[in-house]
Amino acid sequence: VSASDIATLVKQSVDIVDVIGQVVALRRSGNRHVGLCPFHKEKTGSFHVDAANQLYYCFGCHSGGDVLKFIMTYQNLPFSDAVRYLADRYNIALPQQDYSYQAAGTAAEESRRERDLLYDALKKANDYFYDQLHHGEAGRNAREYLRMRALPAQVVEAERIGYAPPRWDGLLRHFESSGVDLDVGLKAGLFSKSAKERLFDRFRDRLIFPIADDRGRVVAFGGRALSKETDGPKYLNSPETPVFQKGRMLYQSARARAACREVRQVVLVEGYMDLLAFHAKEFYRVVATLGTALTAHQVRILKRMVDEVVLAYDSDDAGERSLLRALPFFLQEELPVSCIRFPQGMDPDDYLKAQGLSALEELLQCRTDLGRYAVEKMLGNWDGSTSGKIRVLAEFQPIYDAVLQPLLKAEYLRIVADRLSLSEKVAEEQLLHGRTDAGRSPGATRAAPISRVPQTQPREESILRLMIRYPDLIEEVRSSEAVNYFQESRLKAVALVLVEAYRQGDGMLEPSTVYDMLPEPELKELYTRFQMEPADLHEPLLQMRDWLQALRECKTRQNSLESLNESLRRAQEAGDSARVRALLAQIHSLCSTQNRAKCSQDNLEGVKHQ
Ligand SMILES: [Zn+2]
Repeated sequence: VSASDIATLVKQSVDIVDVIGQVVALRRSGNRHVGLCPFHKEKTGSFHVDAANQLYYCFGCHSGGDVLKFIMTYQNLPFSDAVRYLADRYNIALPQQDYSYQAAGTAAEESRRERDLLYDALKKANDYFYDQLHHGEAGRNAREYLRMRALPAQVVEAERIGYAPPRWDGLLRHFESSGVDLDVGLKAGLFSKSAKERLFDRFRDRLIFPIADDRGRVVAFGGRALSKETDGPKYLNSPETPVFQKGRMLYQSARARAACREVRQVVLVEGYMDLLAFHAKEFYRVVATLGTALTAHQVRILKRMVDEVVLAYDSDDAGERSLLRALPFFLQEELPVSCIRFPQGMDPDDYLKAQGLSALEELLQCRTDLGRYAVEKMLGNWDGSTSGKIRVLAEFQPIYDAVLQPLLKAEYLRIVADRLSLSEKVAEEQLLHGRTDAGRSPGATRAAPISRVPQTQPREESILRLMIRYPDLIEEVRSSEAVNYFQESRLKAVALVLVEAYRQGDGMLEPSTVYDMLPEPELKELYTRFQMEPADLHEPLLQMRDWLQALRECKTRQNSLESLNESLRRAQEAGDSARVRALLAQIHSLCSTQNRAKCSQDNLEGVKHQ
């Protein structure tokens, strides 16, 4: 009996509504149960439990998953302890060999021993990567890259940055020869397992950033792809392990905590390179998220560390979106938050290199309150019409609801009312009216009304949402082979699992099976969110066919663009200026059809998310 069989047994024997209902007051609402989220402070119920799918999801802080995920998060237990916890409470007899009822002390002792083994393996891996960067022949590209990015040697040293060579078994062989248990390496997230149960290196041809906990122990790695030939996304992180939970840590928080003792203000960035650009200038009041969106838990960590957070995200649309998405968490924790914006197309790293630290410190001086920034953005989108006013107020609603401090609430309301030429009373009444509307449809706080879904979401995401909402359409997707054209790796991974689960289930799709088949917590989260968010369409089949068709055309155009670019490069090398002009014209016309088809935007989305 394997551990996953036992987990399945436990999941089948308990009801998620019953388990969560013991710690969260739930009321029935349609086919869901709703309550106040136990993971973030709120006054309105954004926390939904779905008995049919046996999943929970919070529309406020986006935490979600199955019953085991809930127990792991709520009781702060590792996976195996969460299984045992539920088995104990529901008198589920577990096969003896794996889960004998040990005294709690022994279990704790065992889990500490397990963690020590993981720390040890991670440290050895770090030494290996470090050695490869400095001495390996294969490390030359990585050294060249660091020179190009102008990362000073003392930062590379201090952070023990490394390099994973482009081999399937580099670290694997190293562990074998130095007697490290490969299973421990697997548990530490250093290896992956193939379909044929063979282990291979997770990180290949990547620059490696060690991620340490507050006690300085390496708990995970972030890996940046070094060439176009590198498999997988641009940034690849360790998966969650018993010693690493992405949403519960921040990169370089120990260093920042020490630096923030005098000036209790920290800069939050989104990437390792951005953060290290600050370190290169000897500025240490800076932390970074670990490849996922900011969580409520991370904001609580920050709250214990500082009195104010300044977000310094990329100046592109994706950066803008994460900026606005972060706001409610800060409002709920009543932690002052502001932002700085860089000239279009720049990230903190670019800016620091081009302008230096003193320019950045000036930006910090004239930072903008994030709530105010968000409100101004919304007002900037107002088209001057009355229906536009209602839209702006609807957009403002989640912010207004999330603000706990009365003064701030009044200030935002005043700005909005003033600019829309409404009395504050009328604006407030409209907001209250909007709230009862939102109460009727789950997830309404997360922006888009249903009819707007197709235009505002990138196509791949829309296709995936339809597959989840209407499993009958999965066959359509499978036969079109559209999944192969997906650019965004997470969406692609979930879509592939859906296709596979549909095949294995002979056309039936069991949500909890899909959930269990998804290999990474991040993918489980994505699936839970899409499963729980409303996505109804009038003509799903026709819509799906349109999207699949568009995706194919987009891919074809992209292929032609790539080959044109290649010809252009050759024509430039050959100095054939007539041909260069002709090719540029072709590229130009292809790009403008792309824009019309919103194709390039989808491509950019794909790149950004990776
Ligand atoms: Zn929540």
